[in-house]
Order: sequence, then structure tokens, then C-alpha cells
Amino acid sequence: MQYEEVATLTPIKNQIKIEVKAIGVNPVDTYIRAGIYPIKPDLPYTPGKDASGIITEIGPEVKNRKIGERVYTCGCISGSYAEELICNEDQAFILPENCSFSTGAALGVPYSTAFIALNLRAQAAAGEIVLIHGASGAVGLAAIQIAKLSGLRVIGTAGTEQGLKLLWNQGVIAALNHNQDNYLDSVQDLTAGAGVNVILEMLANVNLDKDLKLLAVNGRVVIIGSRGTIEIDPRDTMGKNASILGMSLFNTQSEQLQQIHAAIKIGLINGRYRPVIHSEIPLVDAPKAHELVMQNGVNGKIILIP
Ligand code: NAP
Repeated sequence: MQYEEVATLTPIKNQIKIEVKAIGVNPVDTYIRAGIYPIKPDLPYTPGKDASGIITEIGPEVKNRKIGERVYTCGCISGSYAEELICNEDQAFILPENCSFSTGAALGVPYSTAFIALNLRAQAAAGEIVLIHGASGAVGLAAIQIAKLSGLRVIGTAGTEQGLKLLWNQGVIAALNHNQDNYLDSVQDLTAGAGVNVILEMLANVNLDKDLKLLAVNGRVVIIGSRGTIEIDPRDTMGKNASILGMSLFNTQSEQLQQIHAAIKIGLINGRYRPVIHSEIPLVDAPKAHELVMQNGVNGKIILIP
């Protein structure tokens, strides 16, 4: 990645232009940059999906957004690692007054993903127990907050003492260390022998086989992240009527995204949804942010400031 001047942008049709105040760094930004993701942009390109800022210009067909509004994005057209970006008006959502720009930049991919995984894919119901396998990262922490507001009980995993402490502070019923041997042994006791109803899995290539053995009858595993292959025993799904559910945020239709962010807005206004910010780094140091986001033990969101 190189930091350089590019031509200024003009929104057309239903596009808006945003003066960027903060940018959210997601693992997928690194996969796309490295060329290992199915989406391969034409080079050169500006990376990034998530940002927050102020609308400075609107295209002639824009209906629902106004100049001067504080917004955050979930997806954009021109790339969010920049001082200004262009997105469609339906990719920008109002940032409530009680939320900072860094908070806004941490919402798009993590909160949408956590919401879809829990509510649309797993269809988790109040009273159920969810295991968030990888709860100390951006998606996992969002998922804890969404699950708790929906009346679920959460078991979370993290890989460091600091991560475990963070999970306890977020209100989990148990925090387990995925770097320790036998860390899942207590799950049977925690669920009174029944198993967990839902698992949100951030590293399926390591954990899917173990996950299937932890499920309750009619249990669901949602695969959010995976970085390789794994062998499973399909028989583990049979006796429990278990479901393995994949998901990609990029499959979400615009109308559904509007509904998801209307629900997220309520949690933002009442203070129940608050992303954990790991660090704020100058945009010029984006290469450093890409190294950091792929390291273990980085709890919460890395934000770039232009
Ligand atoms: P992140 O902030 O980097 O968090 C990564 C999480 O994985 C951390 O909680 C980390 O815990 C945990 N982890 C590390 N080793 C683990 C293990 N052995 N078992 C379980 N968890 C482990 O990333 P993120 O933004 O939350 O995203 C998480 C994953 O979901 C990434 O792979 C990302 O690409 C993917 N994702 C997919 C979608 C989709 O649409 N499907 C959308 C968003 C993200 P420690 O650091 O405490 O060890």
C-alpha cells in the first residue's frame, strides 16, 4: 500500500461524497489487498469498506441523505482508506449524536455480520446459550452485545488474559481461553449437560470439528471466519439435527441492510452497542494496521484517522 494524492471525486446518480473522519480496518481488507479473496479489484485501488464522516456532496438522484449529515458506511464504491469517499446513499447510515466518529467507523462490517449471524442465520432466540468462538475480536465483541440485548446467554473465547477480562466486562456467563488445552471441557457443565444452542465461529478451519461435539439438539453453527480446511465427522450432525450455516456479509441485499442498521441504531442510541476500540492510527500507517489486524491478542477495532 502506498499513501498518495489522487484526483478528487464527484458523486453521480444516487451516490454521496463523505469527508472521512475515521476508518475501520477489517481482516477482509487484508485478504483483498493480498489477492487471496474472490473479489479482485482492478489495480491501483483504494482499500476499505467501513468509515464515518460528514456528507459534503450528493448526486442528483439522492433521496434519503443530506449534506451535513454525520454518517457511517457499510461498504463503499471508492474505498474508505482516504480523506474522502464515494458510496451509494443506501450504504450510509446516520451516526447518532452520542457516538464518536471512531465508534461509527467500527460498526459497518462487524455489527452487520454479528447481527446477520445471530438473528438471520442462526435465528437465535431469547434464553438460548451461544458460544462465540473468537469473542475478543471486532465481530465477536459486537456479537456479545447483540446477543445480550436479545436475551441470550453468552460463552465467549479469547486467547489472552486481557481478552478474557474484556469478555467478563462485556457480561459473558463464561470466558474460556482458546489457547489452553481442554478449554472446552467446562461447556457441558455450563449448559447443564445439554450443549450450546448456537455457535458463532471465527476460525472454522481450527474449530468446526470441536464445535459439532458441543452442540445441543437442533444446534446451529454459523461459520463467520475460516482460513483453511478441516476434517469433520458428518455423523456428529445427525444425532443432534445439527446445522452448519455459512454466511457472507456481501450476500446481504440493500433492503435487508437498511432493516439491520435500523435495529443497530436503537442499540447505539440507548448505549447498549459500543464497539471496543483497540487503537487509532494515522491513515499513512495503514500498512502497520494491516499487520496488526492479523495478529492474535488484538482486542477490538483498529481505526485509521486520515
Ligand atoms: P479480529 O478482530 O481480528 O478477531 C479475530 C478473533 O479470532 C479474535 O477474537 C481472536 O482471539 C480469535 N481467534 C484467534 N485464534 C482463535 C482460535 N483458535 N479459535 C477461536 N478464535 C480465535 O477479526 P474480526 O473482524 O472479528 O473477524 C473475525 C473473522 O471473521 C475473520 O476471519 C474475518 O475475516 C471474518 N469475517 C467474516 C465475515 C463474513 O461475512 N463471513 C464478516 C466479517 C468478518 P484472540 O486474538 O484473543 O486470540
